[in-house]
Amino acid sequence: MSDCVLVINAGSSSLKYSLVDASTGTSVAGGLVERIGESNGLLRHRGPDGESEREQRIESHDDALRAVLRAFASEGPSLDDIELAAIGHRVVHGGDRFADPVLIDDELIKAVTELIPLAPLHNPANLEGMEVAQRIFPDLPQVAVFDTAFHQTLPEHAYTYAVPAAWKEDHRVRRYGFHGTSHAFVSGEAARLLDREPAEVNVIVLHLGNGCSATAVRGGQSVDTSMGMTPLEGLVMGTRSGDLDPALHAHLHREVGWSLEEIDRVLNRESGLKGMAGENDFRELMKLVDAGDAAATLAFEVYCYRIRKYVGAFYAALGRVDAIAFTAGVGQHSPRMREQVLGGLEALGIRLDTDRNQDDSQEARVVSAEDSPVAVMVIPTNEEWEIARQSLGVVRAQK
Ligand code: AMP
Repeated sequence: MSDCVLVINAGSSSLKYSLVDASTGTSVAGGLVERIGESNGLLRHRGPDGESEREQRIESHDDALRAVLRAFASEGPSLDDIELAAIGHRVVHGGDRFADPVLIDDELIKAVTELIPLAPLHNPANLEGMEVAQRIFPDLPQVAVFDTAFHQTLPEHAYTYAVPAAWKEDHRVRRYGFHGTSHAFVSGEAARLLDREPAEVNVIVLHLGNGCSATAVRGGQSVDTSMGMTPLEGLVMGTRSGDLDPALHAHLHREVGWSLEEIDRVLNRESGLKGMAGENDFRELMKLVDAGDAAATLAFEVYCYRIRKYVGAFYAALGRVDAIAFTAGVGQHSPRMREQVLGGLEALGIRLDTDRNQDDSQEARVVSAEDSPVAVMVIPTNEEWEIARQSLGVVRAQK
């Protein structure tokens, strides 16, 4: 058997997949099925001979995975030759039940189903992906890797909201945090770049993509994170507001007459950079900033200022910080954002190196000055590899 794991990320109308060699992190092949349930479904497959694209009707996730298998058979690599070790599924919400990856069985499916109220958009799609893959690959071990699991080490004072105590017990109201797979991977890589054991280092990880979150990692364990009971809390994101006054819902409901559903929709889909400047794609936003657009300039400032505040908060939470690691689309590729977030923080031991910060390499790297007490890093995240690695770990532990 190989070390290859097929990593599956099933969304409500999409299915992303990557065939990953868990020992090296190489993605041997991968792709994306989009518009599941529509007549013009689209499958993009990347194999050894490059990329292919085909449009076809894809009724369901079952159809989607079967189309993926046909692409593997016709364009390679052949899954029969590879002998998969496992299938790893990204699952968004594990509540407080799952602190580790878990082998998928009926009990696990039941538990993830019970967690649907906490992630009504994501968990049903993830379940669909798991059920379909079990049907199509009945003999392969399948593992669920939860986006929340890494944050299960949060101390009680960091995950408790100051609301009636019974809400936690009765309604599962608490901070869970998300992007855990990315924060786990990047904090591990940060320790590796420092040439130290993860248990020895404290890292602030800034995952800045379409969704954004910050995590304080002490000795390899998440001790605080900016996303909360849902992924709406914390940093400013492409279309999500992040932190706000919790009285806002009541105010808008009472004064403007909007329903809670409408307010929730706007805060998740029409807010953040998009709400402030009409543009959620960071690259496009920066073009507007360069053209002198006042709304875009303000949105950029609000976005960076919020990150800066979290850096300060998590610095205090950790007491000592060895590294600050930027990752995901914006984190990896915007030197201007990194400068705006960390500029002027020399008193905290944070000194960016202007030239290193400008360098747009794809490698994990240090972008702070040689003498900076806190290392600032840019680390490409690799959630697929982390899922593959954790899945393989679970399978090996069974043997
Ligand atoms: P992700 O969710 O990690 O794919 O990140 C998506 C975000 O990263 C989008 O807002 C993109 O505009 C942004 N992004 C991707 N590449 C760049 C780049 N070269 N410079 C600035 N932002 C980028």
